[in-house]
Amino acid sequence: MVPPENTPGKTPAKTLFQRIIDRELPGKFVHEDNQCVAIEDINPGAPLHLLVIPRKPLPRLVDATAEDQALLGHLLLVANRLAVEKGYGDAYRVVINSGADAGQSVFHLHVHVLAGRPFRWPPG
Ligand code: AMP
Repeated sequence: MVPPENTPGKTPAKTLFQRIIDRELPGKFVHEDNQCVAIEDINPGAPLHLLVIPRKPLPRLVDATAEDQALLGHLLLVANRLAVEKGYGDAYRVVINSGADAGQSVFHLHVHVLAGRPFRWPPG
């Protein structure tokens, strides 16, 4: 998906998360590797609320292709490792919102990792 502001001949606008990754905006980093970073969510929905964000600025999960298979697996393994390292290996929730109607507000793919309180199902 090409955002409307990314017209030919213009430098594509960076996503909010790309600007955090590039240290143009502040972020509380808890993990970094060559494929992704993880930061604390600015408006946490649980005692632990991390965002695992690929360096590749895929807008939404629906935009991923077979080329992204290893990257998507990596994001989940990092999410799991962080939850375990933070002491929440027994119970945590991983969420990916894909599309505005699913609750996505930042159009740079990210994996929410939430833990530290009970969760209901289905989510609202
Ligand atoms: P989503 O609604 O699934 O796109 O999730 C976006 C998440 O990004 C929300 O949980 C926000 O609280 C979080 N968020 C927005 N701006 C920032 C920021 N500057 N630093 C960290 N997290 C942010």
